[in-house]
Amino acid sequence: MEILPVLIQIDLITLISMEYKQKFKTELATLYRDGELDILFKLLIADLKKQEFNQVLTDGIALGADDEVLFYNAINQLKALKPIQHILGKTDFYGLQFWVSPQVLIPRPETEELVHLILSEQKNKTVNILDVGTGSGCIAISLKHHLPKADVSALDLSLDALAIAKKNAEKHKTNITFFNDDALNLAESSYPNYDVIVSNPPYIALKEKADMEDLVLNNEPHLALFVADHEALIFYDKISDFALSNLKTGGTLYFEINQNLAYETKGLIEQKGFEVALFKDLNDNFRMIKAQLRG
Ligand code: GLN
Repeated sequence: MEILPVLIQIDLITLISMEYKQKFKTELATLYRDGELDILFKLLIADLKKQEFNQVLTDGIALGADDEVLFYNAINQLKALKPIQHILGKTDFYGLQFWVSPQVLIPRPETEELVHLILSEQKNKTVNILDVGTGSGCIAISLKHHLPKADVSALDLSLDALAIAKKNAEKHKTNITFFNDDALNLAESSYPNYDVIVSNPPYIALKEKADMEDLVLNNEPHLALFVADHEALIFYDKISDFALSNLKTGGTLYFEINQNLAYETKGLIEQKGFEVALFKDLNDNFRMIKAQLRG
């Protein structure tokens, strides 16, 4: 006899969990794939429950009245094809959480690979680093977090981006010097010499727009994404010129690059006198460049 109430309780919990997950999936089934919906649901519940994504259980969920409002609100925003990172106002990058807004690029997994490459090569070194076009600050902050002895500076043209980057630096208690400056017009004498200069500049040519997802096109800053077709490598050109004068002897320049322009980008930087290596990302695309001045 004693077992009956327990069974009823389990059934109720299953029912509640089915309700939220089922509701979520039915409402959004025409817009997202099933696998995507599982991840979106888990991200949302992790946020509402203030739990880690990897630890949150998506079964047996009960939501309070306030959270239920947020839950339905999120469904509506997903219906309007808003990125989940904008709905939650944050995303994970290289194991840390970053605030994001429509004014900054949503940090990408490829960029985590760039950070990983730099960390693997610079670990235990006392280096000074400049991140050009920092956006949310994800590169600069991750580097400083893992290289606490490094002296890290970061710049961006967008004041809105810098405001987010500063908020992120405070969140992670990383002491970073921020500058408002234009990557295409850096005055060499205004900056010291660096051991490491890194940049994930805008690199998508306007003619590639047609191949891009609406989710990106409609929600992310075009300033951080696009370059004119006739000068698709302009940021690599200008930042490498800056590095010619502002890298220390033996210093290293790291870039995230457009996989469709990998050899052109490599050639451009080599012409300036750098030794250049291309690296692939996990999708097997040339995505990173490392450049050092020939001794
Ligand atoms: N990798 C980004 C994308 O494909 C672009 C990043 C950039 O332009 N720097 O959306």
